[in-house]
Amino acid sequence: MNSKKHKPLITAAAVLIALAASVFQNVFAFDINENSQEHYELEQQASEYEQQLDDTEKEIADKEAESKKLQQQISDLSKKITQSNNKIKTLNNEIDEKQKEIDEKLKAVEDRLNALRVRLRTIYIQGDTTSLEVILGAKDFSDFMDKAELVKNLSDYDNRLIQSLQSEMEVISQEQKKLRSDKEAIEKEKTNLENNKNKINKLNEDNTKLIQELKSTKTTLEDEIKQNDERQKVLEDALAEYNKELSEQLKQKRQQEKLAKQQQKSQQIQKKLAEQQQRDSQNPEIVVPATEDDKFLWPCPGHTNLTSTFEEWRGANNHGALDIADGDVYAAKVIACYKGTVISTNTDCTHDYGKYESCGCGGGYGNYVMIDHGGGKVSIYGHLSAVSVVAGQEVATGQLIGYVGSTGYSTGPHLHFELQLDGVRYDPLTEYE
Ligand SMILES: [Zn+2]
Ligand SMILES: [Zn+2]
Repeated sequence: MNSKKHKPLITAAAVLIALAASVFQNVFAFDINENSQEHYELEQQASEYEQQLDDTEKEIADKEAESKKLQQQISDLSKKITQSNNKIKTLNNEIDEKQKEIDEKLKAVEDRLNALRVRLRTIYIQGDTTSLEVILGAKDFSDFMDKAELVKNLSDYDNRLIQSLQSEMEVISQEQKKLRSDKEAIEKEKTNLENNKNKINKLNEDNTKLIQELKSTKTTLEDEIKQNDERQKVLEDALAEYNKELSEQLKQKRQQEKLAKQQQKSQQIQKKLAEQQQRDSQNPEIVVPATEDDKFLWPCPGHTNLTSTFEEWRGANNHGALDIADGDVYAAKVIACYKGTVISTNTDCTHDYGKYESCGCGGGYGNYVMIDHGGGKVSIYGHLSAVSVVAGQEVATGQLIGYVGSTGYSTGPHLHFELQLDGVRYDPLTEYE
């Protein structure tokens, strides 16, 4: 069963739902209470089914063990019945043997009697009728033997022989009688065995039927458990989908709120700077006067901390410029490092805040100013929050050209200060040695 392994999901979901419930209501056609109630009931049901399945399996095992025992008994009984049959067969053979012996003896007696009759007939012809009538009138052999007593003088030889035959026959008869009684005992025993076997067969049949029923119950339970499990999965999937949507909406809402805040702040600054710019353009502000020896001036007066140098490796090439930044660099004044003509500017980036991907404005420089100083030298000032000059404008050394910002591809407020000679970047620090 896997109902247990889904539990953490439910718990985590409940927390998320509690958080989200106040923000979003009835976002989807999805009843979270109904879902969790049904899920709970399914789990209860599943555990009952599991218990029943366990019981059924135990019972099947018991019954199968019993069945095995019964089958063993049946097999033992069958063996004994076969042995009994063999014994009966042997006894029948022996009885037949004895019968044959008895028949032979009878035949011998008969022969003897016939011989005697022939002799008696001879006596009759000679005239001794009394003895003859007595003997010929004998009802059977034993009667004959009694009567023969009367005429034993007639033939002692025959008489002895007949008596010997009689006693042999009696022994054989006794033996045959014993064999018949043995056979009867074994047949009785065999009948008992067969009755026993029939009884056990019946037990085994009942047991087999019961096992079939239990197996069918087991299959039904397994089906129920499977269906229960599938339904739980459906509910869990629906819940997961619901949670995913909720967290997505929460995330979007947070992002929108953050963006709105940033844009609001940016707009305020833009407005302020636009006013400043208006004043500055009417009255060019020289922030730092040029030096007597006419050298380059630091582009961001009062802020000298470098967060990136010319040499810093940026994956495929070096930075090729200076990044000037500190805790309150934002909106600091940026001046022309040297007199010249503004070649180009960009002022259309409104994304004046830290970001981890480029908004694309100004080719990543955001709002910038580019000044041609003559002699092949050009300076670039990137990521400005506002620009105070326009392309084609002449600027003096130290004149205000804009304000530090975080436009374009910038993770936070800083001035990107870049120098080129004949189109090739060089380390700006060499101008300040
Ligand atoms: Zn932008
Ligand atoms: Zn830079």
